[in-house]
Amino acid sequence: MSLIDSHGRRIKKLRLSLTDKCNLRCHYCMPLDQEFMDEKRYLAPLEIKEILQELVELGVEEVRLTGGEPLMRKSFDLILKEISQIGLKKIALTTNGILLDQYFDLLKRHNVFSLNISLDSLHKDNFKNITRGLHFDRVMKNILKAHELGFQVKVNVVMMKGINDHEFLDFVHFAEKTGIEVRFLEIMRIGHACKDQNDQFISAKELIDRLKEVTTLSPVSLPLDSTSFNFLTEAKGQIGFIASESQAFCGHCSRWRLSADGILRACLLKDDGRSLKGLDQQTRKNLFHELLGMKPLMRPLEVSHDMNRIGG
Ligand code: SAM
Ligand code: SF4
Repeated sequence: MSLIDSHGRRIKKLRLSLTDKCNLRCHYCMPLDQEFMDEKRYLAPLEIKEILQELVELGVEEVRLTGGEPLMRKSFDLILKEISQIGLKKIALTTNGILLDQYFDLLKRHNVFSLNISLDSLHKDNFKNITRGLHFDRVMKNILKAHELGFQVKVNVVMMKGINDHEFLDFVHFAEKTGIEVRFLEIMRIGHACKDQNDQFISAKELIDRLKEVTTLSPVSLPLDSTSFNFLTEAKGQIGFIASESQAFCGHCSRWRLSADGILRACLLKDDGRSLKGLDQQTRKNLFHELLGMKPLMRPLEVSHDMNRIGG
């Protein structure tokens, strides 16, 4: 058995959420008074390792650690140590960057070089408006430090009309000045974001049109299952767009998601999944097979669960 569904999509990548907790409260992700799951519900490090080992045998090559904020998971070090032993081709991390300075050495030791770091504003005040946190300086310092240390850094910006879209060209200049890739995400209709998404939505096409007024864009070729499409600006800024709302990429999706409490999902936008917690190897294998039939071909319009529970 390998993980190929009836539409020929091969599952090669896993987004592994380590916790739903976070030290920010980005307004599109969760409310200020968000309640988090009891840590007793988390998959234990060794169970994570076993599950990943089985998935690697079935063709999974890459794991991206996410959350919530993955660096808030108390056993992050142990989990990373365990999963770095199972022959994955790549382990990557998506983080809000606040705690990153404490982890540079550990990440390097375990060959975690690919860091997606979220930053929705280049200004302290607007960062605070969006994230309801005070950590702008530390995040910016950590982004620049990670780049300097040789990590492959991508800055993820959720672009929102009337909130940070006036900073769009500043982010492009940031990419040109620093050599750090910046990717612009369309705000998705997920959980807490659904209520304001219509008003805040700005499409990748609209942003690209704005950019074409000031620079020419050269397309960059990327693998078919890449979530972003990228360009180089005239001044060699690397920029990308993740147009999950306006240009869905379900036809080439190669990802499954495992939540901190052990629910394996075939799609970010589908609530149904299969709980793997406490199961034996054979039962898990049967569920992997079931999950292959659960990946939609047409993109669901929205989903009610919050992003931080599933792992973005
Ligand atoms: N806490 C980490 C971080 O912020 O990078 C990892 C988890 S976070 C859920 C992963 C990514 O999802 C972030 O880049 C965040 O901006 C993005 N995200 C969260 N909610 C979103 C939404 N409704 N639409 C688009 N992107 C969203
Ligand atoms: Fe936390 Fe990431 Fe959600 Fe922001 S997007 S609240 S940093 S989990």
